[in-house]
Amino acid sequence: MIDLRSDTCSQPTHAMRSAMASAIVGDDVYGDDPTVKELEREVAALLGKEDAVYMVTGTMTNQVGIRAHTEPGDAVLFDQNAHVYLLEGGAPAALSGVLPRLLPGNRGVFSPENVSAALGEAHRFFPNTIPAPVKLLCLENTHNIGGGKIWPLAQLKDVCDLARSRGLSLHLDGARLWHATASTGIAEAEYAKHFDSVSVCFSKGLGAPVGSALAGSKEFIDRARRFKQQIGGGFRQAGIIAAGALFALRHHRERLLEDHEHAQLLAHGIADLPGIELDVATVETNIVRFGINSLPAGEFVEKLYERGLYVLPSGTDGVRAIPYLNISRKQIREAIDIIASVAEAHANTAGASKTSKQPSGSGY
Ligand SMILES: *Cc1c(COP(=O)(O)O)cnc(C)c1O
Repeated sequence: MIDLRSDTCSQPTHAMRSAMASAIVGDDVYGDDPTVKELEREVAALLGKEDAVYMVTGTMTNQVGIRAHTEPGDAVLFDQNAHVYLLEGGAPAALSGVLPRLLPGNRGVFSPENVSAALGEAHRFFPNTIPAPVKLLCLENTHNIGGGKIWPLAQLKDVCDLARSRGLSLHLDGARLWHATASTGIAEAEYAKHFDSVSVCFSKGLGAPVGSALAGSKEFIDRARRFKQQIGGGFRQAGIIAAGALFALRHHRERLLEDHEHAQLLAHGIADLPGIELDVATVETNIVRFGINSLPAGEFVEKLYERGLYVLPSGTDGVRAIPYLNISRKQIREAIDIIASVAEAHANTAGASKTSKQPSGSGY
């Protein structure tokens, strides 16, 4: 089975497993796991922040970040397709009690004007106690539902400057920030410097088995540690898994370009197949999202699965495939052949009316 469902399906390498097996550990809740501390220091330095805190998932780092920036009843600006809003189990409402205000991003990218429009204008005739105060803006780079879209740095800066001038705090969901850096050569810290907090994942493209980190100022991370503990995120000899994350951070960032090449190979290999809607220019990093108009996406992926390719449906007409470190070039070629065989078998039933070049659905 060629598993391209997600880069989270990556398996730890032998070298990573031996680093984990020999990790020096302690009780992290008492703050004395040396491997966790080393990881936190390295991540903070890489992102140009004072401190960082290691947690079990990206969902936890994002949601603890949101909680630490807000109080219940505050409003938060999210892109309409943000992972933190759509794909984290309703956590902003359940854990932070915040009101989402959605921005009309295009593949996750929105403008300063979108932010101003969402914030509105205060006027002395209207009591400012009526609307929920907007405290935070969240931005995602690269953007998952946006197909691994990279935020242009100048636009990111303009959006952040505008939000800051209006008194908002800024959080970056950088689960795949590594991929933006691998592709553009712009250092992670150059993106991160515009934000008060940044969340990064070790368990996706970097290939570690578990974990994410939240970085920010010393004061902010101290506050975040309290909310991590509050939701049961205090873990004891976490150095065992932190060692995998540290290994991934040190050894697996450079190789991400190989995954980007594999994504290109896959995209170019299937873009012209009957019933497939894919603009190869939208594939910027490791995520390949394409539309399917010959049969429902759910059925299409079942047929791929029967032939040995495991990918995810996204909405009714979209498919997502993601190469990662255990996926070889040969497997990508096989994946193309499998997609071609199913697409061609159903070519006759392809609807002719579809004009969109991208799937409309949202999904993981
Ligand atoms: C996967 C992902 C997360 C959450 O990570 P988990 O470790 O699965 O909780 C957050 N943001 C984005 C953009 C992601 O792709």
